[in-house]
Amino acid sequence: MLELNNIFRWYNSGANRAFVLRDISLSIQQGEFVSIMGPSGSGKSTLLHILGMMDEPNEGTYTFMGENVLKIKEKQRAELYKKHIGFVFQAYHLIDELTVYENIETPLLYHGFSSSERKSMVADILDRFNIVGKKDLFPNQLSGGQQQLVGIARAIITKPNLILADEPTGNLNSKQGQEIMELFKTLNEEGVTIIQVTHSEKNATYGSRIIELLDGRIEK
Ligand code: ATP
Ligand code: MG
Repeated sequence: MLELNNIFRWYNSGANRAFVLRDISLSIQQGEFVSIMGPSGSGKSTLLHILGMMDEPNEGTYTFMGENVLKIKEKQRAELYKKHIGFVFQAYHLIDELTVYENIETPLLYHGFSSSERKSMVADILDRFNIVGKKDLFPNQLSGGQQQLVGIARAIITKPNLILADEPTGNLNSKQGQEIMELFKTLNEEGVTIIQVTHSEKNATYGSRIIELLDGRIEK
């Protein structure tokens, strides 16, 4: 499904150059469930952002579903993202001015679902995540865990075939966290490819492969 070759990401130039990712090559098949682990600052979020086409490496190539991501036009890249990827951000990235309901509905608008389809799809997911009672609240009226659930709901509602999730259970209690992992497991069994960043050994056991980052390199 995707392949990175010799990816480097750095900030600053000249003598101040600071490497975040060094020579990352990896290949992930459709249907895999991969966990990215490693210490804070090792480059996990940066790697996930590159996979999600929201950051670009300084060097290297990225092939996603046969497309040369770093060479195609911005518009085509946005289409690829919209069609195939659901992203769960480490810091939620909800839209402050929109209610819970509207935040979850947003990707459906871009996908052109009718108003009645949107209504039933959002209702289903609010119900599944047990947050029906929160639907008219704004993000700043929610706990961190609730915001995280909204972020996950928004990422999966369009049924993407790749879910990129950055610490998806980081702010959830253990029961909620386990429910999300069970949900990911079910989605994965239905064929969805999942790449999650996690600090949790237990979460990693839901996946079939671990990629360990240390100082921006893949640990072998
Ligand atoms: P954590 O577990 O704490 O979330 P992480 O593994 O996700 O850490 P990244 O967020 O990928 O780490 O950051 C890796 C390194 O890249 C850090 O040293 C960070 O300071 C640096 N970095 C990230 N974004 C920028 C930026 N915009 N400018 C400069 N340095 C950056
Ligand atoms: Mg991070």
